[in-house]
Amino acid sequence: MDKKLIMTPGPTEISKDVREAMALEITNPDLDLEFFDFYKDTTEKFQELLKTQNEVFILSGEGILGLEAACATLTEKGDKVLALDNGFFGRGFGEFAEMYGADVTYLSFDYRRGIDIEKLEVFLKTNHNFKYATLVHCETPSGLVNPIDKLCPILKKYGLITVVDAVASTGGEAISVDEWDIDILIAGSQKCLSAAPGLTIVSVSDHVFRSIDARQEPIHSFYCNLALFRDYYKNKEFPYTQPISNIYSLKKAVDIVLSNDYVNQHALVGTALRKALVAGGLKLYPQDSYSNTATAIILPEGICFKDLYETMKNQHHVLIAGAYGDIQGKVFRIGHMGHICDKDKLYITLKALEASFNYLGFQTQCNMA
Ligand SMILES: *Cc1c(COP(=O)(O)O)cnc(C)c1O
Repeated sequence: MDKKLIMTPGPTEISKDVREAMALEITNPDLDLEFFDFYKDTTEKFQELLKTQNEVFILSGEGILGLEAACATLTEKGDKVLALDNGFFGRGFGEFAEMYGADVTYLSFDYRRGIDIEKLEVFLKTNHNFKYATLVHCETPSGLVNPIDKLCPILKKYGLITVVDAVASTGGEAISVDEWDIDILIAGSQKCLSAAPGLTIVSVSDHVFRSIDARQEPIHSFYCNLALFRDYYKNKEFPYTQPISNIYSLKKAVDIVLSNDYVNQHALVGTALRKALVAGGLKLYPQDSYSNTATAIILPEGICFKDLYETMKNQHHVLIAGAYGDIQGKVFRIGHMGHICDKDKLYITLKALEASFNYLGFQTQCNMA
């Protein structure tokens, strides 16, 4: 494939070091005890990144596996679940819980704003008979970030297990699992961590393990059963063969994140990009709670996404993303997470965007780059 600048909100570009780690000599990960230590070391790096003492597991599948595994592991038929819904992934998370037999209540919020903390508090006062709640940190399709630091402690006050999709924020936004009462946090390799797609990282609290122990029904899945990982290190046994090359590269990726001041870098780049776009005469899709890892922009009148995408790709070799759900065709997105949270890459992207808009008949109001 031709070399392009991949400025999408995941998968992102991957650094040479992370790619080369995938080519290291492998061993038999089922039998070689050194691999158990390597896996555990990698999970300890994630404990550091996520600021948690909770167990961390690496699962062999892209981020969606983590969402489904959380639902499969927690849900028994008829369990009441609360899905906080202010976007595509928030809605979809509730649907995964339904798939495993949960009775899901969707508490919906404005799709262009961060979740309203007061509205949640008022709701919980009279409705809190739920086993767990699902919520999303960065709603990538709309470029929004939800205040999980406030939302999870409130949910926890009412005894709900908190399950957070942080696939598009881990390694880009500040996260503090223990302080914020997050029982299950789900991250993915291909977003801010800038490793290849294919791995989910989950942190799992004692509250979750107690809930597993109290189940009446078995967990109706093998691949999505988080309990199978519980004693992997003690027993030196994984439920299935681990994707060793991907884990080598994930370890490299997390080391890179930890060696950078990543929260401030993402905040700086995200803020600068938003300012440039607004100064250029464009409108952002969110009305508050802007994500520092992905930006969603309303397409100007008369510009069709396909034309913009093709012009950016064919004339400038820059890949941008569209949107899905109700805003498909109305919004386009630029990723600035992990390896692509970089001012030179955004300079090139903004130059290309300006030239593409001018080519397609929309004049930007300033030199955005
Ligand atoms: C990327 C992402 C996932 C994983 O989904 P894919 O699009 O299949 O990679 C899950 N949740 C969020 C919020 C994401 O951004």
